[in-house]
Parts: sequence; structure tokens; C-alpha cells
Amino acid sequence: MTLFREAVIDLDAISDNTRQLRRMTGTDVIGVIKANAYGHGAASAAVAALAGGATRLGVATVDEALALRREGVNAPVLAWLHAPRRRFDDAAEAGIEIGISSFDQLEAAAAAASARTPVGVHLKLETGLSRNGVAPAAWERVLAEAARLERIGRIRIVGLFSHVSNTSPADDLAALAAFERGCAQAEAAGVRPEIRHLAATAAAIDLPETRLDAVRIGIGLYGLSPFDDRSSADLGLRPAMTLRAAVAAVRRVPAGQGVSYGYDHRTAQETTLALIPLGYADGIPRQASGRGPVLIGGRRFPVAGRIAMDQFVVDVGDHAVAVGDEAILFGDPTLGHPSATTWADAAGTINYEIVTRIGPRVPRRTVS
Ligand SMILES: *Cc1c(COP(=O)(O)O)cnc(C)c1O
Repeated sequence: MTLFREAVIDLDAISDNTRQLRRMTGTDVIGVIKANAYGHGAASAAVAALAGGATRLGVATVDEALALRREGVNAPVLAWLHAPRRRFDDAAEAGIEIGISSFDQLEAAAAAASARTPVGVHLKLETGLSRNGVAPAAWERVLAEAARLERIGRIRIVGLFSHVSNTSPADDLAALAAFERGCAQAEAAGVRPEIRHLAATAAAIDLPETRLDAVRIGIGLYGLSPFDDRSSADLGLRPAMTLRAAVAAVRRVPAGQGVSYGYDHRTAQETTLALIPLGYADGIPRQASGRGPVLIGGRRFPVAGRIAMDQFVVDVGDHAVAVGDEAILFGDPTLGHPSATTWADAAGTINYEIVTRIGPRVPRRTVS
């Protein structure tokens, strides 16, 4: 089939990035593949991360973990965000590890244990981010109950974990200190987790103290930098997603021609307009109207005028552009492509959001 639009996913890049982050951090990598692996395709990204040495996978929801099992991924998987009063029978049946953020979730996990198989849990301690996790005031009660449930064979305490805010080294080290107080309290309560994990990509790279027994790597797997001041290449990472489309139409127009809704762009002189068949329904941020970069025929052009639901226009001047030519929105800057980070800057957001929001109308084509 000829190109219309697609996200090309380089699975070797995901494996290599996993290997690189393992090497950089010297600790086990939990590959975070929530949200369809940040838009890259969960099952294939999971396999690629495992091939690169990840020892466990992390997702937000049990449903995401079950979908991986259905795709034949049998590695340890941890899911940490749950609907109120959710039961975990399906998760237990599939051998999924449950992140526990409350006493009630602990009881629900234990209730899902079968006669012979305890449910694997990771107890999440709140250490400052103010999101999920057991509040410090409840640590004692939850830890005591967890120790009891493990003794009677209902749960297996696989991990103790928390998450940092990336506010500053001082704030993250304060979260680490809080986490260590929680670990000491756990020890005193008879809770002996197999692993303790705290850092996501940014802290794993910049704050060695937070690496502990494993790091949860999301954005780094996909070859994107979580830092404003360092690129993928600076970190030895390679972006895994290239978003491209075929030019769907070209037209020659005179000076003063309005382009797209609201005529925010008017041509300065006679010029050629190229139509790119991707829009905000596909995750191209409308906020990047007039700014987002597109590479056509080796040259970069900004979006002309407003990004619409399904399409936008590029003003290519007198450059020879034909229907069917390849237009690359972002990919690997070392190959001359714009980066997802440039699109993020153009839209006032972060590269995480750019790749994660690429929509279901854009087919993923994996290469390796
Ligand atoms: C999303 C997430 C991660 C991964 O974060 P990155 O910055 O993408 O590495 C790790 N841990 C938790 C709890 C998360 O929600």
C-alpha cells in the first residue's frame, strides 16, 4: 500500500534504549509501557524492552496488564492505578502484580488470592507527590496488615515503591528520605520486599541515590529526553517513533491567499501549498498551528495557519513538492528530522504528550 500516514516504530531503538539505561543506571529496569507504550504500541514495545533487558513491566491499569497477557506477554507486570472498589480476581488469575495505595486495595488484593497462590503486591508509599500511595499516617496500619497477610499466604510483598516530582534535586532527595523512613518502618513491621523502586527516567539518570533496586523507565525507552537541557543524543538514546505522511494535495496560489480556518496565514507571494493529512484528531496539537515543523524534500517548513481535525497545510514557496512526497513531522534529529520535543515546544507541552496522543487513526508500523 502507498503511504498515507503512519507512525514507524523502531523496536531495535526501544531495545537499545533499554540496554543503554540499564548500563547508565547499573540497576534493573522496569519498562513502563502504559498508555499503549506512550503511543508506540504496548505489546511490541513490551517485547522490545524485555529483549533489551527489562526484568519487569509497569502499566497504569489492570486492564492494560490483561491486554498484555492476551498478547502473550508473560513477564512480571505491575499495575498501579485502580478504579474505586475494584476487585482483583482477574489480575490475580493472570499473575499481575498490584500496586497498593490504600488499606482497602490491600484487602481487595488479598481477597483475590487462591488457596495456593498469593497475590504479588507492591506497596506504594506517598512521599510528597500528593497523588497515589499510602499516606504516611496510614503506613503503620497498612504495613502491619501486609505483614500479616503475607504470613497467612494471601499476598507476596514483591515491592515497596514511590514516585518523585522532578521539582529539584533537593525535593527529590527529600522524597527519597521519606521513602527510606517508610522502608525502615516496613522492616520493623516485618515487611521484607524483594525490591524497592523510586525513580522514573529523570531521577534514574540524574540522581544515582534514587536508583535503589530498580528504576521505572518510560520516556527513556522511547528514546526521548525528560530534560529541557539535554537531547536524546546527549543521553545516548534514539527516538523510536517517526511520524510521517504523504503530501495529499498541492496547489499553486497567488499572493494574499488565505490558508485554513480563520485565514491566520495569508501567502506573502505566489507560492505552493502542500496538504498534510494529519490533524488534531490524530494527536497533532492545534496549539502548534503556525509553528510545528515538517520536513519535506530535505527542507523544514512550519505549519501554515491552523491545524484542523484531519489535515493542515504547509507553505513550501517555490520548492518542488508533489503529491505523494513524504512529509516527516518528527523522528530522529540525528537523521535531520524535527524532534517530538520541537513539536512539544511549538505546542507549549512536553514530548511525552506529543507521542502519547498520536491517535488510533494513525497506523503503527513496526520495524526492526
Ligand atoms: C509514568 C510513570 C513512570 C515512568 O515515567 P517516565 O518519566 O516516563 O520514565 C514511572 N512511575 C510511575 C508511577 C509512573 O506513573
